[in-house]
Amino acid sequence: MEIAEKLNALLELQAIDSQLDELRKLRGDLPEEVRDLEDELIGIETRLKRFKSDIESLESEIAKHRLNKKDADKLIAKYKEQQMNVRNNREFDAISKELEGQELEIQLADRRIRETEFKIREKEEEMTSIQIALDSRKIALDVKKKELEKLIAESKEDELKLIKQSEKQSAKIEERLLNAYRRIRSNAKNGLAIVSVDRGACGGCFNVVPPQRQADIMDKQKIIVCEHCGRILGGAESIEVHKRRK
Ligand SMILES: [Zn+2]
Repeated sequence: MEIAEKLNALLELQAIDSQLDELRKLRGDLPEEVRDLEDELIGIETRLKRFKSDIESLESEIAKHRLNKKDADKLIAKYKEQQMNVRNNREFDAISKELEGQELEIQLADRRIRETEFKIREKEEEMTSIQIALDSRKIALDVKKKELEKLIAESKEDELKLIKQSEKQSAKIEERLLNAYRRIRSNAKNGLAIVSVDRGACGGCFNVVPPQRQADIMDKQKIIVCEHCGRILGGAESIEVHKRRK
């Protein structure tokens, strides 16, 4: 196989492998998106639970105030009976004071109950709007999940097809060159092991390639690697001289 053929075969393999990279990158992000949404939902549900337990404790406060009122009622009845049997004015006045005290207790309890009921209504209203937000998020998540599942299923098929293509193409390339390609590819962030010279620059690292080197690359008579990034330079469209500003 001539060098030019080898380089072209490698460029073809790179095109397939780059597609494979894109596909996997896309799929890699999808589950994360769903996870983020699910975490958000858990956060909202936790908030709702907190509201519910807040309301429960407010309701038990109200129950306590009602019990206090009952106690006060009992005491009032008792004091009224005692007042019937007083022996003097001093005793009567003392009991009157107790009575007043218990009536105040009842008024106070009524006020607390009204205030607490107001707090409960506020919380319930807030809960309703959170619930609405939660419901719409759940619908959004469902839609997203289905979309992602479909995409994953689709990309799986494409992935298998590309893997087969990649294997078929790899078989056409001699082992030594293929190993070099794989080594460079695994070290390159963008997965590019073989690139073309584009507008006078390396297509992998974008460093300027000298015109004479560009000419050699165009000839495809030997395998040339970028002196900056080590990628194989598989070809050049045209020779371009980079004008450097002084
Ligand atoms: Zn380079």
